[in-house]
Amino acid sequence: MKLILLGPPGAGKGTQAKLIVDKYSIPQLSTGDMLREAVANGTEVGKKAKAVMDAGNLVSDDIVNAIVSERLDQDDCKNGFILDGFPRTLEQAEALSVMLSEKGLGLDTVVELKVDDEALVERVSGRYTCGSCGEGYHDTFKKPASEGVCDRCGKSEFKRRQDDNAETLRTRLMAYYKETSPLLGYYFAKGDLKSVDGMGDISDIFNAVDDILKSV
Ligand code: ADP
Ligand code: ADP
Ligand code: ZN
Repeated sequence: MKLILLGPPGAGKGTQAKLIVDKYSIPQLSTGDMLREAVANGTEVGKKAKAVMDAGNLVSDDIVNAIVSERLDQDDCKNGFILDGFPRTLEQAEALSVMLSEKGLGLDTVVELKVDDEALVERVSGRYTCGSCGEGYHDTFKKPASEGVCDRCGKSEFKRRQDDNAETLRTRLMAYYKETSPLLGYYFAKGDLKSVDGMGDISDIFNAVDDILKSV
């Protein structure tokens, strides 16, 4: 299974990606996670990306394309992968298409998560993750079963993203509508786009996503 999850910040891409990982045992390739790791490790890429990410703008296509290309070369991507947060520009989409054909990999489908703008603000402002295993949570919509303890790994250290504030989210949404939303038309025209209503329960949305995955 080789797929792209497309949607604005806070749509639920990471949440759905983790459920797909559990069911299909394919890796989640989140460019946001990769870039945050580069920032945390103080690499050259991280130094270039930090200020751009903090402001909510997009990191340059060259940097992101290179990261993804390198990641796709790893063995665990041979049987499939979930691209989460990439591509985000038409240039990245074109680069991905070239990359995949050069590597002898295809693409099965592009799944769009459709979510109301007001809900995005709510989702992003309440988002936090387990600092140990990366499981995603929300102050209102997805609390751990036992307060302060990660459902997945049992640890009690959580973190919030620096860019998950109302002001930066506005910039990120603008970047989505200007740079990323044209990809919906691009993949529709290619015949690859499937849209899912992303406004319900996490598990109902997963069932809808999974129906698509089973059909491709
Ligand atoms: P993305 O990766 O698209 O930015 P996330 O998967 O991180 O989005 O989800 C953003 C926030 O919204 C997280 O706190 C997550 O727990 C929460 N969330 C995800 N899906 C839903 C949903 N269907 N309903 C309510 N909250 C959700
Ligand atoms: P979200 O889950 O809210 O959609 P991500 O974690 O995917 O956010 O991305 C966080 C930030 O990392 C973005 O605001 C952007 O600065 C950078 N980033 C991630 N993926 C890309 C990409 N494909 N192209 C350019 N910048 C990216
Ligand atoms: Zn955890």
